[in-house]
Amino acid sequence: MLIYDLDLPTLTNLLQKWDEPAYRAKQIWQGLYQHLYNSPNEFTNLSKSLREKLTERLDFAPLKVKLFKDSSDGQTRKTLFALQDGHLIESVLMRYDPNTNLGRGRRTLCISTQAGCAMGCVFCATGQMGFSRHLTSGEIVAQVMYYARALKDENLAVTNIVFMGMGEPFHNYDNTMAAIDTLNDADGYAFGARRFTISTVGLAPAIKRFADEKRQVNLAISMHAVDDKTRVEMMPVNKRYKISEVLEACQYYVAQTSRRVTFEWALIHGVNDTPEVARKLASLLRGLMCHVNAIPLNPTAGFEGEGTNKERALLFKETLEAGGIPCTIRMRRGIDIQAGCGQLATEN
Ligand code: SAH
Ligand code: SF4
Repeated sequence: MLIYDLDLPTLTNLLQKWDEPAYRAKQIWQGLYQHLYNSPNEFTNLSKSLREKLTERLDFAPLKVKLFKDSSDGQTRKTLFALQDGHLIESVLMRYDPNTNLGRGRRTLCISTQAGCAMGCVFCATGQMGFSRHLTSGEIVAQVMYYARALKDENLAVTNIVFMGMGEPFHNYDNTMAAIDTLNDADGYAFGARRFTISTVGLAPAIKRFADEKRQVNLAISMHAVDDKTRVEMMPVNKRYKISEVLEACQYYVAQTSRRVTFEWALIHGVNDTPEVARKLASLLRGLMCHVNAIPLNPTAGFEGEGTNKERALLFKETLEAGGIPCTIRMRRGIDIQAGCGQLATEN
C-alpha cells in the first residue's frame, strides 16, 4: 500500500489497527507533508518499532526517476518517472524569473493524472501513445512531493500546480480530487485551492459535477476549434461532447462558482490561427466570464501541423480582444527538452 494514497482518516484507522495512539497518524501526516520526509527512517519522532512497521507495511517510493532534462535557460526541468509497474509518466517544473514582470517568481508544476491518455487528440504526444492506466491519488501526490523536496533544498516552494501533464484529469476524476484534497489539507501540505488548475478536454458531465462541488480550483478547457467539424478532427472526444454542450457546461460552472473559465488554444498555422477564427471564437464566448490562453502548437512526431509564429499569434490575440475576449499568448517553454505533454515518454 502506497502511503500517499491514504487520506488522514484512513491513516488514523490503520494506526489504530496497529494499536498505535491516534496522534501518531497526525505525526506521520505532518512528517510527510510538512517536513517532506521521504522514508520511514526520517521520522525520528516515532518509535523504532513503528518505523519498522511503516517500512514493512507501507510503500514510500512510488516513483523512480528515469531521467530529467533541464532547458538551456535553466528555467524548466522535466522529469521522467517510472511507476512501480514500469509505466512512464512526466512532470515539468517551470520557473518564472522574479526579475521579469510576467509571473514574478512563480514556480509552476505541471503534473500527470494518467499513464497515457484515452482521448486521442491528434496533435498531442500523449494522445498519440494511447491509454495505459489511471494514476492513483498517491502517484499524483508523489509527483508534487518530489519537486517540493527538490525546491526545499533551495529554500523555495512550488507556487502553482497545473493538471496539464499526461492524461485527462476528469477521466480519472476521483483520484485527481483525492490528490487535491490531500495536498490542500491544512494540517499537511496546505497548498491553496486557488493555486491549482485543472485542464480538461471538455467532458461536459464532469465539468458539471466539478461545478456542483464548488471548489476554488481553477478550470481550463482545451477548446482549439470553433466548429464541430474541425474540433472532431483534432479531438475525437468532440463526437461525444459537442462544442455547444461544452460551453453549456461552462455556463453552468460560472453560474455555480462565479469563477472565470480559461480556454486553452493551441495555435496551429493556417488551421485555427486566422482572424476569422478569432472573430468566431469571440462571438462564441461572448457573455461567458472567461479568458483565452493561446500557445503556439508544440510540434510532435505524429502530427503534421505547425505552430503559429509570433506575429500571427499577436494578430489572433488582438482580434479576439477587439471582440471583447481577453487573451494571453504564452510562448512555448522548454521546447529544447521536449516539455510538451508526453514527448519525453514517447522518446523513451
Ligand atoms: N488532458 C487535459 C490536460 C493535459 S493536456 C487536456 O487536454 O486539457 C494540457 C494542454 O496541452 C491541453 O490544453 C492540450 O490541448 C495541450 N496540448 C497537447 N498537446 C499539445 C501540443 N502539441 N502543443 C500545444 N499544446 C498541446
Ligand atoms: Fe489527452 Fe489532453 Fe493529450 Fe487530449 S490533449 S490526448 S485529453 S492529454
